Amino acid sequence: MATHNLLLLPGDGIGPEIMTEVKKVISWFNARGGDTFESDEGLVGGAAYDAHGQAISEEDMAKAMASDAVIFGAVGGPKWDDVAYEHRPEAGLLRLRKDMELFANLRPAICYPALADASSLKKDIIEGLDILIVRELTGGVYFGEPKEITDLGNGQKRGVDTQVYDTYEIERIAKVAFELARTRNNKVTSMEKRNVMKSGVLWNEVVTDTHNNGYEDVQLEHMLADAGGMQLVRWPKQFDVIVTDNLFGDMLSDVAAMLTGSLGMLPSASLGAPDAKTGRRKAMYEPVHGSAPDISGTGAANPIAMIASFGMALRYSFELVEAADMLDKAIANTLDKGLRTKDIAAAGEATISTAEMGDAIVAEL
Ligand code: ATP
Ligand code: MG
Repeated sequence: MATHNLLLLPGDGIGPEIMTEVKKVISWFNARGGDTFESDEGLVGGAAYDAHGQAISEEDMAKAMASDAVIFGAVGGPKWDDVAYEHRPEAGLLRLRKDMELFANLRPAICYPALADASSLKKDIIEGLDILIVRELTGGVYFGEPKEITDLGNGQKRGVDTQVYDTYEIERIAKVAFELARTRNNKVTSMEKRNVMKSGVLWNEVVTDTHNNGYEDVQLEHMLADAGGMQLVRWPKQFDVIVTDNLFGDMLSDVAAMLTGSLGMLPSASLGAPDAKTGRRKAMYEPVHGSAPDISGTGAANPIAMIASFGMALRYSFELVEAADMLDKAIANTLDKGLRTKDIAAAGEATISTAEMGDAIVAEL
């Protein structure tokens, strides 16, 4: 029986409201016996700025580095619109990603059966959908140099971004994708644009080489990212794990998100390199949505994305597959019973509050 150390960073807006519901779930698992969770709590984003003038303090940053997993709520809001750029709430999130070297962003697109009917998409396209997009998060065009706007002197300017990928960056994200595929349906689709981009040619080569060196048991397929986007909308169930670069991953994961419905349902994980001694990866788990200042304080926030993010921690950081499956089932059952927060309710359907949804999921557990 292991004890796992969590750092909870609720953040701003609905962040603390949905974190309260995750704490109920964590307490339930602690009371059940088996592996237990010790949670410490810190400040991030506007909440941290208000307390000590920084979007995350050095002390909380050190706690994050030492934790087995960070459970992150959401940051930002109109209150901090005028804060200096380097102290804006989002700077806390970026600092965590950078210092923890969270290079792999995992975004599942799952369609809960109870919500398939409510979708505006054809039911047979999304019913039972369960795919995982693995996006490279620390390289590519977001960070490549040069990155600038230059004055060409003749009334013209030039905007330049540079896509850069080194072998090691592609290899480590490919390994994450293959390892995840082994725990799922054993298939990886790699997406790039090798027909127009040199970084795409290298991406394709390195993914293939990585596959040939120890991951031959996993089915690998390559797809051009534009065709991949089309296939994702046409017949998403053909995919299991999609691995792609930072920019394509940003776009494809937002497209996949819309296949499944509300932002309030979508969890994510960001993973770093395995620790040399323990083999455990640094990791942060957070909902895909933001701090939703428009509904903060009204009890309307859907806590499912946050709770499912903890479910990803159970699965990917702690390898507690049975617990993770149980939590996913509890969420599905709660939805099957017709319980809905406002964001996922059909017109005229009765709704429950953030706290009632958290309680219902715990009761289902
Ligand atoms: P960010 O810049 O942080 O990504 P955003 O502007 O994309 O934020 P969100 O905070 O994600 O916006 O919210 C977008 C919309 O979705 C808002 O109307 C918000 O109320 C709604 N929303 C987001 N999360 C939830 C949730 N958990 N439950 C219910 N509604 C939500
Ligand atoms: Mg957003």
